[in-house]
Amino acid sequence: MIADPLDTTVTLLQDLIRAACVNDGADQAGQEIRAVRVLQDFLAGSDAEIEVYEALPGRGSLVARVKGTDPNAPKVGMLGHLDVVPVEREAWERDPFGGDLIDGEVWGRGAVDMLFLTASFATVLREVALAAKDGRPPRGDLLLIAVADEEAGGERGIKWLLQNAPIMREVTEIIGESGGMRFGNHLAIEVGEKGSAGRKIKVKGVPAHASIPFGSNGAVSVLAEAERLLREAKAPVVLGETWQAFVTARVSDETVAEKLRHPSTVAEGIAQLGVIAGYAHAISRTTFAPTKVSAGSAHNVIPASGTLTLDIRTLPGVNDAAVDEILRDTLAPLGADFEIKHLLGWAATQSPTDSDLFQVLSEVATEVSGAPTIPLLAAGGSDCRFYRELGIPAYGFAVLSPQWTYEQYRERIHAHNERIDVESINLTLTALRAAVGRRIG
Ligand SMILES: [Zn+2]
Repeated sequence: MIADPLDTTVTLLQDLIRAACVNDGADQAGQEIRAVRVLQDFLAGSDAEIEVYEALPGRGSLVARVKGTDPNAPKVGMLGHLDVVPVEREAWERDPFGGDLIDGEVWGRGAVDMLFLTASFATVLREVALAAKDGRPPRGDLLLIAVADEEAGGERGIKWLLQNAPIMREVTEIIGESGGMRFGNHLAIEVGEKGSAGRKIKVKGVPAHASIPFGSNGAVSVLAEAERLLREAKAPVVLGETWQAFVTARVSDETVAEKLRHPSTVAEGIAQLGVIAGYAHAISRTTFAPTKVSAGSAHNVIPASGTLTLDIRTLPGVNDAAVDEILRDTLAPLGADFEIKHLLGWAATQSPTDSDLFQVLSEVATEVSGAPTIPLLAAGGSDCRFYRELGIPAYGFAVLSPQWTYEQYRERIHAHNERIDVESINLTLTALRAAVGRRIG
């Protein structure tokens, strides 16, 4: 008897959750080699070519390939990560690493982000590998790229692999996370991600003895003023393709939608959006969020200098010089000396919506879900960006069931009681199988 692919995908997901590859950012965290072994067992006997890599001991990644017959056909990579973020165990209703299947939902850390998708990728690769073994090879190559360390930035995962495993660069297009959530009646396919341009602002104030504060303007006061000014940072509002798609899909009130379509009224429109306002604000401009502040050493000294650290997320097309210019303009009223130091960052990335892969993903998503699709710009980041930076189009894809609004998605990932419904796995698997078939079958 042939096992049902949905059942085997659910079982694989449970096994990946139980591998508990928790990544807190330390070199020896994750130990994704456990999940690699699960995938090796799953793919055993399929005849897929499999390579296992370790950037550091235990930081395992796996690349599995089925060779196509036509060297000019697309080479599709399915990019999934194996690591998960830590849990607060006592806040969970069930064992976060138990992989329980309860009332049609699989529970566990990573169920949504993104082990259900990594498991679905593995199932599709195995099916294609078994068909090839059976004398029906695909036209183009299909690769499963299952990586370590996504949750901590990819240094011990995709970044290392792109430098050390030439096979990583043999793909011509990528299917990854995070898509499939609903915006109104529409289903999202992620096409881009904002960039990161962290800054540390160093300010100078006028020091004084704290017993005679009259007329002083110490660094603490300057930092407070800087923070207030940054709340009004004048980053240009950009209402491009992904914005207009968001408004059309998500905002049913025509009066509000009309306000959102124009830069002069967009702020008023966002204020009327309710819970989705934060997301709308984030994808319409470069954002500035103060995250750390430091000044002073003794309670009786008004300090001369201090620093304010900012998490800055950039829109596509906004470079470092543009960020610094906004900062200088915004902080000009301080009058005090300040210096801007760059922290580690990366540019925003976006793949086109007129590529063959986007068209196919959009088509199959609509066939499977009945929902038209919209291109999504994500406020956060994923490993897809490393491929977009190489000029290889990458899309965050899935077909989640209708309950998965954007808000539910945001609430469930990295949260207590993370869980995914089997219906979403089924829809995703069906859509992926069709998309891969159309690109390389
Ligand atoms: Zn993820």
